Amino acid sequence: MKYKNFPMVPKVVFGRGSFGQLGEILMPKRKNADAPFIFLVDDVFENNDWVVSRIPVMFNDRIIFISAEEEPKTEQIDTLVEKIRKESPETPSGIIGIGGGTMMDIAKAVAIMLTSKGKTEDYQGWDLVNKEAVYHVGIPTISGTGAEVSRTTVLTGPDKKLGINSDFTPFDQVVLDPELTRGVPKDQWFYTGMDCYIHCVESLNGTYLNAFSQSYGEKAQELCNEVFYNGDLTEEEAQDKLMMASWHGGMSIAYSQVGVAHAMSYGLSYLLGTKHGIGNCIVFDHLEDFYPEGVALFKKMKEKHGVKLPQGVCAGLSDKDFDTMINIAMGLDPLWENACGKNWKDTITPELLRSLYEKM
Ligand code: NAD
Ligand code: ZN
Repeated sequence: MKYKNFPMVPKVVFGRGSFGQLGEILMPKRKNADAPFIFLVDDVFENNDWVVSRIPVMFNDRIIFISAEEEPKTEQIDTLVEKIRKESPETPSGIIGIGGGTMMDIAKAVAIMLTSKGKTEDYQGWDLVNKEAVYHVGIPTISGTGAEVSRTTVLTGPDKKLGINSDFTPFDQVVLDPELTRGVPKDQWFYTGMDCYIHCVESLNGTYLNAFSQSYGEKAQELCNEVFYNGDLTEEEAQDKLMMASWHGGMSIAYSQVGVAHAMSYGLSYLLGTKHGIGNCIVFDHLEDFYPEGVALFKKMKEKHGVKLPQGVCAGLSDKDFDTMINIAMGLDPLWENACGKNWKDTITPELLRSLYEKM
């Protein structure tokens, strides 16, 4: 058994309003006036002065607004890196991502590709990066994915959806300011929050479970339960707790793995472009055979918040479409092995996945 030597985010600040400290956090990292900081910001904030006016722009620094409508693509990273290289006199002092999982992943990938040669798609996989990335900072504005702590950046490339998993991927600094999540629309809050809840269920019920993952997973699940089900929390408390749940959920899967919902949700995402949070919910809703307790509570949470999931997303798909999704899902060996053990292929068949997809 070879144990993972897992890199963690070395610096993190937590607190309501901590976003206001960004200027002093960045100051010592500024190389010179020609090496700018580049702020990659979710365009949902483009006209939000409360956020934008606090971005500490100096000298040649730039804010680039980016849509989170679609999940990040390798080509999009290549284009961004080319633009930044062209417009910056020197290699940037740092890349700062402000937004949800989408912006976190874009910031990590851009920071890596600013120092690595070739195309982004060349680095999709495990430990293919061998150069230190540009200093990068993650500032989440919605809680759940755990992308702020993870060692990956999930990207869709020309022929696969796969992360750049490397020791150079994690952020050098994270700013956890729960106040930034206050404008998140209710449905999106639920979908992305449930990503965290599902991380916990899949990690805690997986064969890869160990004391490290369990300690973080149980805490994250407890926080999710309080936020989405049985807690009597103020809005502020719920924001604070969900931000920490996301962090702990990310730490839990870092040392174990996700499971069935994520594997099948990748299939939906690849074929239909279904986004991660909602895709996980659509799948998880039908996984009572795998995660009976987790799914039962999920259904109660859904009901409590009046969330209606899309139905019939797989209606009208061709045999070829189903096969594409099934191949993508079944290709994720470690997820199935975590969920069902080493002999997972004995029970997880294309027919079983087809029957599950047909329900969605
Ligand atoms: P997101 O970044 O896609 O954002 C979802 C929506 O919420 C967007 O419309 C966005 O504009 C909006 N939004 C975000 N913050 C807001 C705010 N404060 N106020 C109003 N609107 C706001 O959502 P997500 O669920 O956080 O991220 C999903 C992405 O994360 C996927 O691309 C997925 O692949 C990736 N992901 C990465 C990891 C990882 O470890 N790297 C883990 C899980 C998911
Ligand atoms: Zn997830």
